[in-house]
Amino acid sequence: MKGTFQTIEGTSDLLSGAQRPLVRIEVWRHVEHVIHTVMHRHGFAEIRTPVLEPTGLVARGIGELTDIVSKEMFTFERGDTSYVLRPELTAPIMRAYLQHHMEQKPGVQRLYYIGPCFRAERPQKGRYRQFHQFGAEIIGTDDPRADAEVIAVMMDIYRTLELTKTQLRINTLGDAETRPRFRKALVKYLTPHREALTKISRERLSRNPLRILDTKVEAERVLLEDAPRLLDYIDEDSRGSYEALKGLLQSLSISFVEDPMLVRGLDYYTQTAFELEHAGIGAQSALAGGGRYDLLAPAIGASHPVPAVGFAAGMERLILALEASELLMPEEHPFDVWMIALGETAGREAFLLLQTLRAAGLRVGMELGYRSMKAQMRLANRASAQQVVILADRELEAELATVKDMGTGEQSMVPLARLADNLIKKLN
Ligand code: AMP
Repeated sequence: MKGTFQTIEGTSDLLSGAQRPLVRIEVWRHVEHVIHTVMHRHGFAEIRTPVLEPTGLVARGIGELTDIVSKEMFTFERGDTSYVLRPELTAPIMRAYLQHHMEQKPGVQRLYYIGPCFRAERPQKGRYRQFHQFGAEIIGTDDPRADAEVIAVMMDIYRTLELTKTQLRINTLGDAETRPRFRKALVKYLTPHREALTKISRERLSRNPLRILDTKVEAERVLLEDAPRLLDYIDEDSRGSYEALKGLLQSLSISFVEDPMLVRGLDYYTQTAFELEHAGIGAQSALAGGGRYDLLAPAIGASHPVPAVGFAAGMERLILALEASELLMPEEHPFDVWMIALGETAGREAFLLLQTLRAAGLRVGMELGYRSMKAQMRLANRASAQQVVILADRELEAELATVKDMGTGEQSMVPLARLADNLIKKLN
């Protein structure tokens, strides 16, 4: 082996003060904070599930024919059990809902999450092997207000972060009976044009034909203009819910466009489907997607459908979009106090004072090594400290310390006995 280990391709470290292309952890924490705050305001409760799940849950929950399950799962065996690093959280959350009998709790369940997900995709801008999703689910009702509420909380997060240039697209996929009928009609229409399709679409024609509607290939888009339209196959209930959802979004002033070609990659969606895009982040432009998934519960072993709707969004893409919009992001937190020690006795004294000030709630830093005054002052500047305390062996004999106010540049000698109290009073 040559050199040191590196992160696996498609994964990355988060570092304080990091430069692009790495994400600064300060930005990450700011975004997480906004997500928690907005979710809390909308009455969603946080849920954290394990990163490891049974492979069967994901395979059955997402569908064997999807790209995720057929090509992108990180799985491994231990004994006779197969484990998967979760590629998304909707199936795990439905598992948790069923496992903990949350249907017995009063009212609908509003749940939200933030956490890492794993997919063995070809890494590129906006597409990673370890990425992070946040999202929300409302479980236990088929009321279209739940669909509108999930979209509203999602939009509120982007609005709070002042991200503009997003576009919301919505569609309805109909119910469990609609889709097979539409699928048949679509396959019938496309089969004579098989040779004109790309290799991927030819594969999809037999495995997952609805995904062809998603195509970005111009010639295929033209071909699809005359294809059967999903909307013509929709049952009355689905149509009614869709109209209600549109009305609710309009009254909430959430703008959207209807996109009859919008289908979701995942198999368990019924009725509402939506996607949020951003124009400034390149080819991987989807910030978030979601919809209704009443059929997920029976797919993973429940005896009956459980009406549910949710969204899932990518953290990395959100941060890419914030960077592209040049929005001001938080810097590293400044220090209240930076201790400088010149000499070993001063070093011990400074260390004790440091802990006293921290215990009182101040953010205090110091170098652990006896470097020159100049070098330590440079660190104090980098830490943006408000006050710098300088302890030197010589002044300690007189029980004095120097305090420098970095804002005004004023410097004073303070008796050691009063130093901690003075600083705490000034800075707390
Ligand atoms: P999905 O579960 O595929 O609908 O994904 C929901 C959101 O997660 C997408 O809109 C993206 O923002 C994000 N996402 C999905 N896959 C990846 C990935 N491999 N890398 C980064 N973000 C992703």
